[in-house]
Amino acid sequence: AFHANDDYDYLFKVVLIGDSGVGKTNLLRRFSNNEFILESKSTIGVEFGTRSINIEDKIIKAQMWDTAGQERYRAITNAYYKGAVGALIAYDITRKVSFENVGKWLKELRDHTDQNIVIMLVGNKVDQANLRSVQTEDAKTFAERENINLFMETSALNMLNVNNAFTKVLTQIYHVVS
Ligand code: GDP
Repeated sequence: AFHANDDYDYLFKVVLIGDSGVGKTNLLRRFSNNEFILESKSTIGVEFGTRSINIEDKIIKAQMWDTAGQERYRAITNAYYKGAVGALIAYDITRKVSFENVGKWLKELRDHTDQNIVIMLVGNKVDQANLRSVQTEDAKTFAERENINLFMETSALNMLNVNNAFTKVLTQIYHVVS
């Protein structure tokens, strides 16, 4: 259902982080359906999308922030993380180094956000199964060890688990704050 901009019960800020090229912007675009703002990735900008969903009779408005390429310069500012109550840390299942860097992203996230933040580890590009270089079990094990209790494999290309991933994060945030 479509909701007017100011018609919501809760507004949750969710940040997307992870190496450049893992698919953050595409995941965001797949999930967002309004108020989409984009600055060219050739400039250092900010991109965010919003979407309102119903969770247990409440209207939850998610405002999702994308780094818009800042991560390439390791120049993500405090403002990016400020007020975030949820985070998706994404890697590319076909690019092992993007998974190996998840620990750095997690540290940066934890250094800049409240300890109650809801975090999901997201292995994107599962449509490229023949190129897989990160095993599902290895990612699960990592998530458990780091106390990340949400993990999902997605494809922004064929829309596998994209709604599911964001909805799970938003539902868990709702349960933390309500
Ligand atoms: P970002 O730098 O993390 O924001 O990544 P982008 O969203 O810009 O995506 C980087 C590249 O990966 C682009 O060429 C996308 O088309 C591609 N891409 C993103 N998601 C997927 C996916 O789920 N599957 C495949 N095969 N390619 C994807």
